[in-house]
Amino acid sequence: MTHYTGKITDLRVLDVRFPTSLSLDGSDAMNPDPDYSAAYVVLSTDRGDGVEGHGLTFTIGRGTEIVVAAVEALRPLVVGQTVAAFTGAPGAFWKHLTGDSQLRWIGPEKGVIHLATAAVVNALWDLWAKLEKKPLWKLLSDLTPAQIVELVDWRYLTDALTPEEALAMLERLAPTRAAREAEMVRDGYPAYTTSAGWLGYSDDKIRALCREALAEGFTHFKMKVGSDLADDQRRAGIMREIIGEERTLMIDANQRWDVGVAIEWTTALAKYRPMWIEEPTSPDDVLGHAAIAKALAPLGIGVATGEHCQNRVIFKQLLQARAISYCQIDSCRLGGVNEVVAVLLLAAKFGIPVCPHAGGVGLCEYVQHESIFDYICVSGSLTGRITEFVDHLHEHFIDPCVVRGGRYLAPTAPGTSITMQPASIAAHTYPGGSIWKQTALS
Ligand SMILES: [Mg+2]
Repeated sequence: MTHYTGKITDLRVLDVRFPTSLSLDGSDAMNPDPDYSAAYVVLSTDRGDGVEGHGLTFTIGRGTEIVVAAVEALRPLVVGQTVAAFTGAPGAFWKHLTGDSQLRWIGPEKGVIHLATAAVVNALWDLWAKLEKKPLWKLLSDLTPAQIVELVDWRYLTDALTPEEALAMLERLAPTRAAREAEMVRDGYPAYTTSAGWLGYSDDKIRALCREALAEGFTHFKMKVGSDLADDQRRAGIMREIIGEERTLMIDANQRWDVGVAIEWTTALAKYRPMWIEEPTSPDDVLGHAAIAKALAPLGIGVATGEHCQNRVIFKQLLQARAISYCQIDSCRLGGVNEVVAVLLLAAKFGIPVCPHAGGVGLCEYVQHESIFDYICVSGSLTGRITEFVDHLHEHFIDPCVVRGGRYLAPTAPGTSITMQPASIAAHTYPGGSIWKQTALS
């Protein structure tokens, strides 16, 4: 690993919002009108090569300004640090960012301050990957097992997984990494689509989008549920009719239900054979998820959650309690790449497949790297693993994700694929950008 010279000299943070609520893209039982948004961070250095680190955390409109303020609060922990302070010991740097003795009070490691941490951490990784001239997945996959173990803050994890165990897991898979890397470069990573299943779409739009996704090669489809049972049954029937019995359906309630209702409602949808029920109840309710998982197991329906799981500790508990069959990491809800790696390792220990949450703006760009790394270095398996894809807003990125035949193609450009087009940033900056001056929402 090269030792990089230079210091981080500036951190800029922007409030970027897309008026997606106008088309009901992204509508679900709890979020009827999201405006997909980002607190967008740019790190610059005095290296003189013009390389910048870009990172974002995903939000859905109002409140992005609060995340922006939290990123500003992290500025003194980043600006003035050497580039090598991060690239030489990314795990130690993560602890430095999350360990500020006063900022810790407004977390710790959860909520707005943790969303802000994700944007900054992901920007640091983008900077490093661009300096290495590698896509993030390749940078990660070229780290030694010991270097991967160093990325993780092991505090609070060792009752479930120790660094020594993680090292042994990673070392077992190291000799066969090259074959899996070649496979990923050749075939890409399996994806599923949520594009057809938003709650606000008409039946005809659902039919048309399902047919489109089938033609594109998707085999796994997800729909939103939880507002009205009769409506869910009708829409699930339409989805099943179009995708056929041999393909896979998943359902997502976005935290709508109490535990008892979750069991009853999902049971009432069992005849459509969903592979999982996603976010059936509060993301903090570990024991509630465990009760739902136990009740639904005889029906062959797994529980999936994680997009609102605040940190590695709650994931640890979900895994220890056997509360989830599918682990849905989120690249920005967790504290960036480092904490994602922690959860990938935990999930591998418990034998639970990681099926990342994506969609929004930029999340597909992030998770493709994390899933490919997971396969090459951590899980070594594709069984039960599939990564979310939603076909929205990719045109705003310079190196957007590419999905072909229902698979994410391995990114080739250096970085994390998250650098936005300058014109998109300018037009969507809130509230001054041209889009917001024109739209009826502002
Ligand atoms: Mg979801």
